[in-house]
Amino acid sequence: MYNDLKDKVAVVTGGSKGIGNAISERFGKEGMSVVINYNSDRKGAEDAAKVVSDNGGKAFVLQADISTEEGANSLLNAAIEQFGNLDVWVNNAGMEIKSPTHELSLDDWNKVTSIDQTGVFLGAKTALKYFKDNNIKGNIINMSSVHEQIPWPTFASYAAAKGGVKLFTQTIAMEYAKDGIRVNSIGPGAINTPINAKKFADKAQYDKTVSMVPMDRIGTPEEVAAGAAWLASDESSYVTGITLFIDGGMTLYPAFKDGEG
Ligand code: NAD
Repeated sequence: MYNDLKDKVAVVTGGSKGIGNAISERFGKEGMSVVINYNSDRKGAEDAAKVVSDNGGKAFVLQADISTEEGANSLLNAAIEQFGNLDVWVNNAGMEIKSPTHELSLDDWNKVTSIDQTGVFLGAKTALKYFKDNNIKGNIINMSSVHEQIPWPTFASYAAAKGGVKLFTQTIAMEYAKDGIRVNSIGPGAINTPINAKKFADKAQYDKTVSMVPMDRIGTPEEVAAGAAWLASDESSYVTGITLFIDGGMTLYPAFKDGEG
């Protein structure tokens, strides 16, 4: 636990399930006040809100489409109206669409990039403006992926968006470092969340994914949330512009793990 997080105010996008859900709950356990955003699954966000309030934090759930400027603004307004401030903004919401690139429709490309990349821009811009206007040494955490580094055939829109998030994070980390604002990414590997439910239900695909992880297992949303809590806290006070990979070693060229090659 990080004592400095108590009573800090956070917005978490895509908090109704998976990693965003776990981050909201972890922030609640840290005694934070959390605006838990959902797009369609209100029940998931409310379940997380209950965990937050049962553990000493405060929560407010809000529907918003984070690929729109109105969506991002409504989340900021909720943080101010409900909790009086904003300290931490987590751009977690994301989605992926599988398609051979030569068959990927422009519509699907736009769907993925509008959430995974433009959504991150809109969230960060909204938080940065508030931090600047109010002289707050705020904190932004962007949910990237190992696929900001590892190419992913048939998921070109996703990999392009996450690659964009990497340099966006580094750029704004540099741009606002002098203001005391820190910006970092998290790069999860294979994590057990609804985004992977279909894939992991198939034993062959599950085993194949595990074989790409030197630690030989799939990660949990709580393990990613632990990284978010550290990045949000003062314990990481000299860290900005990084991607914290939480991936069981997936980015370590696992094809070489037996020393062959
Ligand atoms: P998930 O599908 O379980 O949850 C995604 C969340 O984003 C959901 O709550 C969904 O409602 C929300 N969302 C989608 N579009 C939205 C929109 N327009 N507005 C608001 N919310 C929206 O997925 P997850 O695994 O928890 O993924 C969370 C983040 O972590 C994503 O950015 C994803 O790319 C990233 N990630 C996940 C993994 C993994 O293995 N699970 C690996 C690497 C990166």
